[in-house]
Amino acid sequence: MEEKKIPQMEIIEVLNHFFLKNKSISEKTKKSISKIIYCLKDRIIITITKHGRDIIVSRDKLIRNYGWFFFVSETDTHRKKKKPKKKNESKQEKTLIYEEFQFENFPIPLKQKVNMRALYHTKEYRHYFKLIKSKNITQTPIKEILNDFFFNIEFIPMEEKKAIRKIIYYQEEKVIVVKALIGDQIYENLETLVKKYGWYFYITGVPVGKSQISIAIDKIEKRFNSDYFSSISLIDETSNPNNIRINIYPIVLKPNHNCHILGLGKLNILLDCGLSEKNEEKEIEGDVRHIEEYLQNLPQYILEEEKNRRKIPIEDTTELELKNIPKNPKIDAIFLSHSHYDHISGLKELIRLYPDVPILCSRISLDLYMLRDSNFLKQQESHDEIEEEEYQNIIRNVIYVENGVKIEFKEKSCFLSFFHAGHMPGALMMLVKMNNFRFLYTGDYTFYDITPFAGTRRFLEQISRPIDYLLIDGTSAQEEFGNISDQFHSLILFLEQKAEYGDNSLIGADPSSLAISFMLIFWRYFRKLQLRRDYKNRPNIYVDMMVRRNIQVINHRYEYIYGPISRLIRDKANPFNSIKFRWFDQTNLNFLRKKNNIIISHPPDLSYGLIRNIINVIGRNPHNFVFLAGSIHEQPGLDLVEGAEEIEFSETWKMPFRALLLNKFAPHIKIKLHSDKQQLQEMIKALEPKEVCFFHQSAKRLTEVAEFVKKLGVEKVSLPRKRKLIILN
Ligand SMILES: [Zn+2]
Ligand SMILES: [Zn+2]
Repeated sequence: MEEKKIPQMEIIEVLNHFFLKNKSISEKTKKSISKIIYCLKDRIIITITKHGRDIIVSRDKLIRNYGWFFFVSETDTHRKKKKPKKKNESKQEKTLIYEEFQFENFPIPLKQKVNMRALYHTKEYRHYFKLIKSKNITQTPIKEILNDFFFNIEFIPMEEKKAIRKIIYYQEEKVIVVKALIGDQIYENLETLVKKYGWYFYITGVPVGKSQISIAIDKIEKRFNSDYFSSISLIDETSNPNNIRINIYPIVLKPNHNCHILGLGKLNILLDCGLSEKNEEKEIEGDVRHIEEYLQNLPQYILEEEKNRRKIPIEDTTELELKNIPKNPKIDAIFLSHSHYDHISGLKELIRLYPDVPILCSRISLDLYMLRDSNFLKQQESHDEIEEEEYQNIIRNVIYVENGVKIEFKEKSCFLSFFHAGHMPGALMMLVKMNNFRFLYTGDYTFYDITPFAGTRRFLEQISRPIDYLLIDGTSAQEEFGNISDQFHSLILFLEQKAEYGDNSLIGADPSSLAISFMLIFWRYFRKLQLRRDYKNRPNIYVDMMVRRNIQVINHRYEYIYGPISRLIRDKANPFNSIKFRWFDQTNLNFLRKKNNIIISHPPDLSYGLIRNIINVIGRNPHNFVFLAGSIHEQPGLDLVEGAEEIEFSETWKMPFRALLLNKFAPHIKIKLHSDKQQLQEMIKALEPKEVCFFHQSAKRLTEVAEFVKKLGVEKVSLPRKRKLIILN
């Protein structure tokens, strides 16, 4: 609505028109509405009615006419009343028998318990329990079932049987709880199993443990110690240690490319290396060439910049100035702020060019990068070694840095230190302290917490101030998102609506960040609904296994991701009963053909072909909902457009599917992984920078933001200039 600037009509006017004049809504529907709830800010009108079909059907029209989103709910207050409290607290769960069932070489723990937990007492359970009763299905003894299930049944694949880690059963309730790493086919064949054995199967997860990629990474020995830089000097012996030059040079300033060179005395550190799209060999050569060009011309660039700054002619160069200029400049380190493609895409190429360069990054960034970029996942069977040479070399060269870690140089008053940047797991900001000068590179950041990841807000206290030069992510700096939890709440309302009417929703989000947030939220929310008696149409939530792998890495590494996610992973890594993890194999997406799906997969920057295939399978019904978050790169984005003419796209060609959500269905929802204007303001308040420069966004879009930042009291705001050296001190 905001994109198309639909004015928001006064609520009274809306209701008058809706009830008295609107012909597309039947009288029956109008009369059936028992209650209306609205939220002015979110532009949502919730109508409580049992006959809301024509509201759904004419929703687009309603949005266009009134500037409000119409949400239909069948039920209201009686849900709250239905909470009979059980007073049987003495009826605690108890184990009666503990034994082991021998399958292959793995003994599976088998427990008989009594007093089943409420958790397993789902609507689905009641449905099947009724079925068992009404059809008089005999309850097969547990041992007989296990023998048949593990050794005879062929519709459950061997792989899945081997992934079962624990079995608990409740004789009286006729429930078998299967704790397994994968459980797709058991779930798919639930009805068959129930009818065959006279038991209900509740499939749930197990703790995930150490991730395979982490184990594989640990097998490779590191080349550099963590104190490698402490013996390295930033200047020549004859230079003045109190006067170390700091300069910055943007290598690329185009969408989804992030690479700067930070000059610290005679050292050159790459700030990220989002250099080029994959499969565009010419571009790769081009971008790396700019780095080479920089290194060759650096003395010249510095001289020119010095002259400009001091307004003196080039001929008047003093001895002292020349001493400060590096003789044979090279790349001395690469700092990777996080593992998103637009910051890391050039790494493989760079390591070929500079095989000995140390790489500073967080452990989780390395793990996630390896998981997604290397062929590790494609090595189907043997998941224990990283095979490709470049990736082995990258691992060898890494020096791990984490929140609060300091990397010292030989000059003790100079160091680098690192702080959580929010944005995604493992994302770090880098503070450079050169004597009394402080330079901060934020990488991509979020100030607020985006469930379940902590934003910078929690860590800014640790950074000493004032910042002399702040190089900050400007991606969404000119936007205003509003409250993030409201945004998530709106999305939930919206998806619940979709689920009630059997529509499909596709969410393509970065597997390691947004997708996890979404998954977690859906899981909690729909799980709650599922446990309620009157919730009929629980959606099938399918999550690409890639997302699960990422969760495993994140959980394995990161204690700072607070609360819910770690509990989810620890207790219910695989809550199949509401969320099903599947490998999204392009050639076999038939499981998505049913209705009422919420599908969480990758954004197109990782596998745009997959997203397109999913769209083809779930159909291009306008009621299907597609939301792609995360960076969408030019080429894949374009491919999607060409391959999908029937889908309505926005004017912003770069984000065709997000537009489907924002413009058409729910324009009030803005969930993004970059900070908006308000969060930028909070950063400026906390860091008190003297000078601010942006990256990650074109200068053109930032002129207003620059004015805004100046008004906050910042002395100088500069917009990025491509391949122009700036001396900061
Ligand atoms: Zn990012
Ligand atoms: Zn980025």
